[in-house]
Amino acid sequence: MRDIRSMTFPELQEVVEQMGEKSFKAGQIFDWLHKKTVSGYDRMTNVSKALREKLAGEYPLYELETVQVQTSKIDGTKKFLFRLQDGHVIESVWMQYQHGNSVCISSQVGCRMGCRFCASTIGGLTRNLTAAEMLLQIYRIQNLTKERVSNVVVMGTGEPFDNYGELLKFLHILTDERGLHISQRNITVSTCGIVPRIYELADEKLQITLAISLHAPNDEKRKALMPVASRYSIRELLAACRYYFEQTGRRLTFEYSLVSGNNDSQQDADELAEKIKGLNCHVNLIPVNPIRERSFVQSDKKDVEKFKNKLEKYGINVTIRREMGRDIDGACGQLRKSYLDQN
Ligand code: SAH
Repeated sequence: MRDIRSMTFPELQEVVEQMGEKSFKAGQIFDWLHKKTVSGYDRMTNVSKALREKLAGEYPLYELETVQVQTSKIDGTKKFLFRLQDGHVIESVWMQYQHGNSVCISSQVGCRMGCRFCASTIGGLTRNLTAAEMLLQIYRIQNLTKERVSNVVVMGTGEPFDNYGELLKFLHILTDERGLHISQRNITVSTCGIVPRIYELADEKLQITLAISLHAPNDEKRKALMPVASRYSIRELLAACRYYFEQTGRRLTFEYSLVSGNNDSQQDADELAEKIKGLNCHVNLIPVNPIRERSFVQSDKKDVEKFKNKLEKYGINVTIRREMGRDIDGACGQLRKSYLDQN
């Protein structure tokens, strides 16, 4: 069955018209679903009872069930574990920054990309999330915290480009002025680098930020960390990034998780800089979050600084990711993983 919350505005209009209703009704329903983010049709007071009942029969609404909330005592970051209608659990993170509140959402239940350092991929992929399930993570968090969300990052569990169709719908609904109307510039989608999808998204000409999980300065090292690197070379990946910039004018972000003795030497920094210099980009260094199942060790603080300084010598813009919620199951997928291990 099609999910009414996963319908873009034109799709909803079509459904409403097929029900023999005036098309302006679609605007009212969209407003209740995506701006007021109500959880039931009974709240839609300007929609006739007959239509509400018809909608409820054909397109039942459901909510995410909150299983667990962890709040950081250090910075107020909250981690949410939600249960989906079919019983699977996903996690989302809420972070407060000076410029506003940001939510990090999951795009899949599990992940099949197999990155060696990541907890989210250990159990493989269970299924894709629908656009509605991606949206509901944000709606639910906004309702629970009573705080407006201004930024969204698709950086939780899952590979968004492995769920491309639903991702696009999600982006269209989230940025629709009739819905939450999150600014495109305040949305970041992070990918391990599925090259054909980068070209496709570029052609959409949206103003969202694309973050690429690079994590290594050459193909050999990248292949050892990320299986996807065996499918697409760094050269192909960077060509796609250049195209993304040409089409959208958006500066790219490269994520680079620093693993001690693996990808954090001065030679690694030189090699990385040689590859990306000249590209309009920004590098976000993330000292790798050690996970129980693997033996990766976080780089020393001084090595992180040295790596940063080296890139900066090439004129590359670099930040070190501020770790949020260190005292709660911080790294990607760890809350969900520890829940699954216990249950
Ligand atoms: N699949 C997407 C988005 C989810 S992962 C992607 O690969 O980009 C979000 C980011 O966290 C990615 O850059 C990922 O490589 C990184 N990441 C995952 N586990 C990590 C860990 N244990 N320590 C540091 N970064 C990690």
